[in-house]
Order: sequence, then C-alpha cells, then structure tokens
Amino acid sequence: MAEQEGAEPSSTIQVCVRVRPLNPRERDEGLRACVSFDEETKQVVLSAVDKNTLLQLRGATAKGYAFDRRYGQDITSDAIYEDCVAQLVEAVFKGYNATVLAYGQTGSGKTHTMAGGQGIHGVIEEGITPRVIRHIFALAEAIRKKEKPGEKTQIMAYGLELYNEDLRDLALAGGRDEGAKGWDGKGGSSSALKLQERPVGKDGRVVPEVVGVTEKVVSNGDDLLSFFSLCMENRSTSSTKLNDRSSRSHAIFTITVQRTIVEVLNELGADLKAKVRTSEFTSKLHLVDLAGSERVKRSGVTGKELKEATHINSGLLALGNVIVALAGDDTTGTGKAGPGEKKKSTHVPYRDSKLTRLLQDSLGGNSLTVLISCISPSEADFEETNNTLKYANRAC
Ligand code: ADP
Ligand code: MG
Repeated sequence: MAEQEGAEPSSTIQVCVRVRPLNPRERDEGLRACVSFDEETKQVVLSAVDKNTLLQLRGATAKGYAFDRRYGQDITSDAIYEDCVAQLVEAVFKGYNATVLAYGQTGSGKTHTMAGGQGIHGVIEEGITPRVIRHIFALAEAIRKKEKPGEKTQIMAYGLELYNEDLRDLALAGGRDEGAKGWDGKGGSSSALKLQERPVGKDGRVVPEVVGVTEKVVSNGDDLLSFFSLCMENRSTSSTKLNDRSSRSHAIFTITVQRTIVEVLNELGADLKAKVRTSEFTSKLHLVDLAGSERVKRSGVTGKELKEATHINSGLLALGNVIVALAGDDTTGTGKAGPGEKKKSTHVPYRDSKLTRLLQDSLGGNSLTVLISCISPSEADFEETNNTLKYANRAC
C-alpha cells in the first residue's frame, strides 16, 4: 500500500443481484417469472405464483431480501460495470486489492456477466472482464504519460481453474489433456499447481502465490484481451443433467498492477540535488466466475460427479462464511452480539478452502469486493433462486 489518494471507498463488500430474462425454453414451457423488485423497500421479492406448485407445498410465500444493488433483466453489463466495478479498477491503481465474484446456479448468467457473449435476446454483450481490461489500460496509459524518470507501471495476468481443490493453469492450451489423469479423478494430479503462502510484514499477513502459474506480462489491452480469451477457451466444462454446459469449476482471472513511484523529497542530498524516495506497490484484481451453486439433488449427479459437487459446495460454503465474517455478522461466534446486532468477527475462516486461501489478501482487510448474485426469474428455479438470495443476503 504505497499511494492512496482521494477518499477511501465507502464499503468494502457490495452485494448485488442480477436477474436474467426468461429464456425461450422457459417461455415455451409457459413458465412465469417469480422475481420482482420492491423499489420502496429495496428488496428482491420472490413469490410463489401458483398455489398448486411444489413451492407452495413447501410453504413458500413472498419472500423479500434487501441488497446493495439490484439489476433487472433490462440492465446491461455496461451499466453494471459503471455502477459497481469501475470504482474497483480505479482503486487498484491506488494500491487496493479487489475481487469481483459472480455467484449463482448454472444457467443464471455468471459467465454472461463476467465474460460476455450472445444473450438470450440474441444480442452480443461484452462482459465485465473485457471492460476491466480496457479500463485498466486506459488508466495505465494516462499514468505512463505523466511518469517521472525511474517510474514504471506494469500489468500482468494469469488464469486459473479450481476444480475439486486442484488448481490448473488456464494459459496452457494443452493443460487439460496434460492433466487428464488428475482431472478425471482417475489418478494423481501431477499437473495441478501448488498454492503457497508467503508471509509479509510482522502482523502475520500472508500473500498467496500460485507456484509456476503462467503470469503473462502485457503491454496493451489487445494482448490482455487475447490472453483472457485463451484462458476462457481452456476452461473445463462438463455436463450434468441440469445443463450441458454446466461448469463445476471456479474460473479465476487475476490482473496485477505493479507500480514504481518516485517521490521527490523536500531536502537536498550531498550532491545538492533533490533527494528522491522510490517505492513499489503491487495490487491484484481477481475476476471470478464461480462454479454453479446448485444443490446436488437437483442435478441428479452421482459417483464422481457427486464428489465434484461436494467439493464445489465446500468452496462456496467457505467463501460465504468468509464474506459473512468480513461483513461483521457474527452468527457462529461467541454470541456476544445480540440479535440483529453487527459485530466484527475476529476470526475469518480463510483456511477452510483453497478458493478462500487463494483470495485471502483480496477479500476484506484493505480490499474491495463485489459479489454479483445471478438468478433466474423462472418459477421452476424458485428453490435455487431462494438459496442464492439467502446466500447473498448473509453477506449484506
Ligand atoms: P452460467 O454461467 O451462470 O451457467 P450463462 O452466463 O452461461 O450462465 O447464462 C446462461 C444463458 O443465459 C446464456 O445463453 C446467456 O447468454 C444467457 N444470459 C444470461 N444472463 C443474461 C442476461 N442478463 N441477458 C441476456 N442473456 C443472458
Ligand atoms: Mg458459466
């Protein structure tokens, strides 16, 4: 943390909800939307639409959850970017670490939000990550124009896939074949990358490092965009009954900004020239397309796939617990906080999963997090949507 100009960002964790439009299949099946927004209470309201549905049998009625930001089906990724992500990119240049997470069941719009693609209405929409990349280079170029001799701004990136607690390098085109043994759970996982923690300073802080990951140094936005596309292509997908393109891995694209700053001091050196102080800082921005949050039962998976689902749930569970602890809601702690009171938890359970260990220096503390909870509006997804809203609501 070298340079921090201007006002501190107001809140370290922002929780948003994005609802996608009903898709053609859902429309053909006559499914209705069960999600609405109450502008007065700022709540996302989930209602059981038909008393004969399974949902009603489970006693579901209208349920409301309040969130920092709500994005309806007509809100574009561009508007979402401007509303809650652009400020993170600016903060990264001031020395903050930041994380954007897309959470939700398979098919709810996580990849559409993070990477972009052709949407339900046939329109191609750019996602958050390509916008981040262009914004980063616009800022870096503006900074470079004003740099003094000895100053430097370097941008680097790497792509990772976290699958069954195994970390893979998404930059390696043959990465999946190479690692097929471990990947399929049939053998060792020799090509999995190792996560190490490097202690920094005296206060017990650690910086997570992925040993041997391909970190690409990029000099312009186009190179970084191609690197991101390559990582996306290499991302593993496997099918479940719920969705052929269901993804059971977390995809993590991390952009690092490294700056060397030269400060001219108000005193003269022995040679009667102004003294200078050189400092360096490194900030990271993680862009995370999380694994599908759907429950195992619903997908009808068994055996090896059940193992995958169990792992994913433990990562998402650990992430939820970390975010709750950071949000200061001590639900599992000492009980000293009274009902409805907020209390800063002292223990943040980063160590409970590889996902949270990997992100530990970019969640909480001196860093900024945006959690975008993606939901389907369809009444058929009522239960999963309810689970997603509950998960996200704990973090508010
Ligand atoms: P996930 O990554 O959560 O499994 P996807 O991002 O692949 O879900 O979204 C499923 C489908 O819905 C894709 O065809 C995607 O383009 C479309 N989609 C998702 N969100 C939106 C949205 N907000 N607007 C338009 N289409 C969307
Ligand atoms: Mg996806």
